[in-house]
Amino acid sequence: MTIEFDAAVFRAPDEPLTVERVTLPSTPPPGEVLVRLKASGVCHSDLHVLAGEWEVPAPMILGHEGAGIVESVGEGVTTLKQGDHVVLSWTPSCRRCHYCVSGRPVLCDMVSRHSANHLSFDGRTRVTSVGDDDVYSFAGLGTFGEFTLVPESAAIAVRSDAPFEQAALVGCAVTTGVGAAINTAMVRPSDTVLVLGCGGVGLNAIQGARLAGARRIIAADLSDEKLEQARVFGATDLINNGRENFADRVQELTDGRGVEIAIEAIGLPRTIEAAYGALARGGTAVVAGQVADGVRISIDPFVMSDQELSLIGSNYGSSKPDADFPLLIDHYMNHRIDLDNLVTNVIGLKDIDKAFEQMRRGIGIRSVITY
Ligand SMILES: [Zn+2]
Ligand SMILES: [Zn+2]
Repeated sequence: MTIEFDAAVFRAPDEPLTVERVTLPSTPPPGEVLVRLKASGVCHSDLHVLAGEWEVPAPMILGHEGAGIVESVGEGVTTLKQGDHVVLSWTPSCRRCHYCVSGRPVLCDMVSRHSANHLSFDGRTRVTSVGDDDVYSFAGLGTFGEFTLVPESAAIAVRSDAPFEQAALVGCAVTTGVGAAINTAMVRPSDTVLVLGCGGVGLNAIQGARLAGARRIIAADLSDEKLEQARVFGATDLINNGRENFADRVQELTDGRGVEIAIEAIGLPRTIEAAYGALARGGTAVVAGQVADGVRISIDPFVMSDQELSLIGSNYGSSKPDADFPLLIDHYMNHRIDLDNLVTNVIGLKDIDKAFEQMRRGIGIRSVITY
């Protein structure tokens, strides 16, 4: 038995996604759950694929920021049941390997082996197109379609009173941004935090720094509109680095010292170097932006040791999705973080290409597809 549904399928870079009929087995294999999606965010990582900046297998259902309801569970599934509200994680973990048991599930062996290659844990795909092609699912999720079949650990149960449009964003931008500040950078109340780039991840890094009680939060971007949004999410100071001298302004705002924490949320070499260059002695720069394949940066290792600077990467906000998704939803429901102002456009699946067009032009923060 199969279920048939519409999904937005990627076939080649720079071509619009095509909404096609695809099928999934309606009975989940052992250890997997069938999820009926209610909402999916449209993320910049989807655009990286569309623009050909990341090489991926095709055809593939894009989308990796989703929330929905468990439709049915396979044999051996113990943490979920039919009707549970879930947020999907693009780092489903085995809960057993070296990384999982040492508390770093986003680095799980299964992520590098399978979901990073857009496959299920058995190394295969689940969706089939009407023409009988195997269809990959982005990050093993493929949320630009109403149904998905995922490993148990890719669906995290959350409270059922949270709205799906907002909950979906916890599946990528919120966890990535808030987590970069809280888990990766471990922001303290005495820190001045700089966030470069005020898109979905950057605004969440800003509110993560606010949640951690940062003394001062400096937002930098080229767009005044995005800087105004940054203020809504907790930035105390703004730098338009198209108009102002970025390095001078950072020095001015920090009494010539630089910042304790700089979070890069764009994914460009010059902004990663700028984040690193803005550090106070002993400071930490975090790369949270998603970089195109093959990019290189240049830093001075003498200064790095002399001033004890750190440059670290942050994948999925160094999160533990099992614990962090319900926590972030609680923070939202208790008005400690703002997810409402992230959702600037609610659309149907057929309008997906318009959402990418808005993203390319820098309009709004997040488009969310509802099913
Ligand atoms: Zn994403
Ligand atoms: Zn593992």
